[in-house]
Amino acid sequence: MTASDIVPGRSCANCTLCCKVLSIPALLKPRGIVCGQCDWGKGCRIYARRPGACADFDCSYLLSPALGEEWKPTTAHLVLGYMTDADVILVFTDPDHPSAWRKEPYFSRIKKWAASTENGYVLVRETTRALALLGAEEFDLGAVRADQVVVRSKHPDSGANTIFVVDKAVADRVRSGRQGGT
Ligand code: SF4
Ligand code: SF4
Repeated sequence: MTASDIVPGRSCANCTLCCKVLSIPALLKPRGIVCGQCDWGKGCRIYARRPGACADFDCSYLLSPALGEEWKPTTAHLVLGYMTDADVILVFTDPDHPSAWRKEPYFSRIKKWAASTENGYVLVRETTRALALLGAEEFDLGAVRADQVVVRSKHPDSGANTIFVVDKAVADRVRSGRQGGT
């Protein structure tokens, strides 16, 4: 993203919540723990040489004018992201406020996103477990490991949607099998 993508008037000032809620594999930093390089509430001590995963991340509060000031991470205790290719809205929760996403005005909006998505879903990442929301349903995915992926699938007969976790290696094999068959 570039500075011109940021909603005018918004910035990371006084917020370092993504440095707590995201996992940063390059630093072996797990989800939910403040990064050792973070000057909490102020910024990154290694800003010029921070990993690519940090440099590439701008939360949806910064990028989306459709989100009001109540979504500011320091207010909401949530950090939002978006995976464009899979149409997945990511909701990372602050471990000090694990149920923040179930409070209003957030929960109604999150449920609305889950009900209106055509191909995606909402993925809520708590520190040790993940939940997916699709339509009116919630799928408790448990602890999703780094070598696993979340998959949305439609039952061929009933047409019912489901969301589950599968090993990346298995997902890759299924994908390459499909490509080989076309
Ligand atoms: S959560 Fe968003 S506003 Fe806060 S520091 Fe990260 S990118 Fe900036
Ligand atoms: S390296 Fe810097 S930007 Fe990345 S998580 Fe740590 S403190 Fe945040």
